[in-house]
Amino acid sequence: MAQHFLLSAASRTLSLRAIYKAGEEAAYRTFCEMRWPETDGAAVCPRCGCCETYNITTRRKFKCKGCYHQFSVTSGTIFASRKMDFVDLLAAICIIVNASKGVSMVQLSRDLDCQYKTAFVLAHKLREAMAREVQTGEVLEGHVEVDGAYFGGHVRPENRKEDRKDRRLKENQTGKRRVVVVLRERKGRTLPFVTKAEAEGVALVKENVCRMASISADEASHWDLLHSGWPVERVNHSQAYSDHGKNTNQAESYFSRLRRMIDGQHHGVSPQYLHQYANHAAWMEDNRRQPNGALAHMVVANAMGAPVSRNWKGYWQRAA
Ligand SMILES: [Zn+2]
Repeated sequence: MAQHFLLSAASRTLSLRAIYKAGEEAAYRTFCEMRWPETDGAAVCPRCGCCETYNITTRRKFKCKGCYHQFSVTSGTIFASRKMDFVDLLAAICIIVNASKGVSMVQLSRDLDCQYKTAFVLAHKLREAMAREVQTGEVLEGHVEVDGAYFGGHVRPENRKEDRKDRRLKENQTGKRRVVVVLRERKGRTLPFVTKAEAEGVALVKENVCRMASISADEASHWDLLHSGWPVERVNHSQAYSDHGKNTNQAESYFSRLRRMIDGQHHGVSPQYLHQYANHAAWMEDNRRQPNGALAHMVVANAMGAPVSRNWKGYWQRAA
């Protein structure tokens, strides 16, 4: 039997040992090269675009010869005002891309010996960087599978049977339950959205699927509306999961990963952050057959191209 890619040596191109052995200076150079790829890592002023800079090596800062603006390699990016060493940042990225179902923030904080809060914000910033590759704004083409699944808002039943409530009734729910609707190209991109009801997926398909595409959906009646716009294959899951090749199994594998990520690692997720986990799982799914060095490379490049995070910069200072 052929060896699975993830078991092969070709899938392992980066290790924590290699990152720490190369050291802080090499990690810093990696960030410079990713930030300024067109100059091979030489600083470019983010304010005026000037390539002539003074190097303030003691503080790892640059000063523009044209406009005297002072900046660092992370200024204006998702890692702006970072306090962590570059080598630790690179290690965090390596740990996160290696975890195919995500990693809990307590575990990351133990691995890096940093506060839980630091790990939490760092991981969310990295998810924002991944989301730039997921939420590209381009429409999906070819054959697209659509499906929805419920996440969050779990209500624990009372201990005694006589105290238990009917959890199907709206008044006994938390209001925190959400649906992740996923649109997934066969052999292509995965595009998740967070909604309150699965039926909102119809409007999302209209916005995000090319008119020349074809669609697969399950038996849920709201998908009937899609038949007017696209050729739609339906599969009735109460009869079969795959009916003569008609299936939504790619969408289901995405949900399988997201479910394991949320139940197995994070144990719970609040509705306002669910989209971040949904994007993380979509990115892992789309890049599942890439070696881990390439994955880390992609995350660093995206993070250096991403603007300062409005949601996550200074998060705990605001929360306090
Ligand atoms: Zn300048």
